[in-house]
Amino acid sequence: MGIAKKTVLLVEDNEDNRIIYATALRYAGYDVLEAVTGTEGVYEARTHLPDLVLMDISVPELDGWEATAILKADPTTKHIPIVAVTAHALPGDRERSMQAGCDGYLAKPIPPATLLAEVDRRFGRPTPSYTPVHPVDDGSSN
Ligand code: MN
Repeated sequence: MGIAKKTVLLVEDNEDNRIIYATALRYAGYDVLEAVTGTEGVYEARTHLPDLVLMDISVPELDGWEATAILKADPTTKHIPIVAVTAHALPGDRERSMQAGCDGYLAKPIPPATLLAEVDRRFGRPTPSYTPVHPVDDGSSN
């Protein structure tokens, strides 16, 4: 890792999700910054200029779309890729995320391995061993 270590800002108000995703990202070798609200997310991004933002859309104060629009309008942060994370795959969520300036989109529920695979892919890291080749389908999502 060393100088190549990447920093990911995780904006997520659900404590369980935040712990799970932050733990998985740290285990995979990333530095992780955590924010609970959209306002905190904007502050952390401006202060630390992370390499990537994972932005839960449903967060207090500023929502994820509003926080994304602010960061994408700011010359100091607009280059930072932002991946939207939504609680429900509602029709139009992807389009609204793209309009807000998000660079990618993930719909919950998101297994930690899927989140890591997306982050690794964005940094051009090879697919690691913790990524299942075939996601398990237990039929519960039908
Ligand atoms: Mn949320």
